[in-house]
Amino acid sequence: MLATNPTNVHQYVSQKAALFEESVIRKMTQVCLAHNGVNLAQGFPDFPTPPELQEACCKAIRDGYNQYARTWGAPAMVEALAEKVRWFNGMEIDPNTQVTICCGTTEAMMSTLLATVNPGDEVIVTSPFYENYGADAILCGAAPRYVTLHVTAPQDSGLETQVSFVFDPDELRAAFNNKTRAIIVNTPNNPTGKVYTRDELQLIADLCIKHDVLAVTDEIYEHILYDGRKHISIATLPGMAERTITISGMSKTYSVTGWRVACAIASPPITAAIRKVHDFLTVGAPHPMQIAGAAALRMPRSFYEQLNMEYTHRRDVMWAGLQRAGFEGFYPEGAYYIMVDLTPFLRPGEDDTAFAMRLVKEGGVATVPGSSFYNPPSLGHKQTRFCFCKKEETLNAAVDRLVTWAARA
Ligand code: GLN
Repeated sequence: MLATNPTNVHQYVSQKAALFEESVIRKMTQVCLAHNGVNLAQGFPDFPTPPELQEACCKAIRDGYNQYARTWGAPAMVEALAEKVRWFNGMEIDPNTQVTICCGTTEAMMSTLLATVNPGDEVIVTSPFYENYGADAILCGAAPRYVTLHVTAPQDSGLETQVSFVFDPDELRAAFNNKTRAIIVNTPNNPTGKVYTRDELQLIADLCIKHDVLAVTDEIYEHILYDGRKHISIATLPGMAERTITISGMSKTYSVTGWRVACAIASPPITAAIRKVHDFLTVGAPHPMQIAGAAALRMPRSFYEQLNMEYTHRRDVMWAGLQRAGFEGFYPEGAYYIMVDLTPFLRPGEDDTAFAMRLVKEGGVATVPGSSFYNPPSLGHKQTRFCFCKKEETLNAAVDRLVTWAARA
């Protein structure tokens, strides 16, 4: 979230660091721990990492992969990645010149932007957005330019009456100008659950080509899509391979958010720049986790089908539970979050942050206040975000608490 008062800062704090606040997502985890709540705030699984991956990681440590890996990625990891993106994303890449393995998509995004964006440039970000992007752009000395995802009128999909988030093509066109260096595309999207359609991605691609702009994609939820939707990597659209940086990671697909292994895939000249930045920022991603990561990337295809079924079930449990507690939300097409409308629950003068604090204290469930996904933050003052990447028993416990709390509230 952007700082509310960036002028009132300590003399030894830099101007850039003064421009944004600490992550609200990470902070809510600490608040949740303090109140012994159920953590539906920060999106990380509470179910176990697949046992074969746990074993692969322990074995890698026993086998001696305990010193630095090659800075831009262990050979086993980059080769497994090239194989995986060929069959899953439809991308043909050279693992020796087009991949940088980073410490999580967080670092992949930061290294990418530092390697490609100049001070004074603009970076287009659709809003609501994952809170890191705003801070990332500021750290590059660039200005984020926000394009609103508008909520559509309810449509009956046959499953649920749905509203979804769409950008206005004219507003998107108007955001591209001669300062625009890049657009960040996050599909499936955090926090909205939106999955970009091929037509939407094509329009973004057309604008990138027309204005000579880079597409930086965050595809961390690429395996979590619902109701038969298929993931599309914008790099596979005609003319986009050389101007796209495709970012993804192990965290969400293999339930290993603590391993900190992710990748940035780009053309050789862009990759050379990302590798330099990455090297000086981190030296490298954890070596044993990269060796285990190679094993993860070679999981059979049935693994991804199973993952999809499990997440669909979690979404259904959470959706039904929120409805029982009286929350109206945005039905997710992908990723593992549900944004809800707080209007019926807010007390006079109460905003999303005050609500989220009241909910964790009184109801014992932690969420992420909507304002942390918007700029200006006030656009999110009537929303909060629930994540559902949790065991069924955790979701049920949260729903029981919410129903009890809502009956009293
Ligand atoms: N992506 C997750 C979320 O939005 C958490 C990411 C993180 O905290 N690094 O909750």
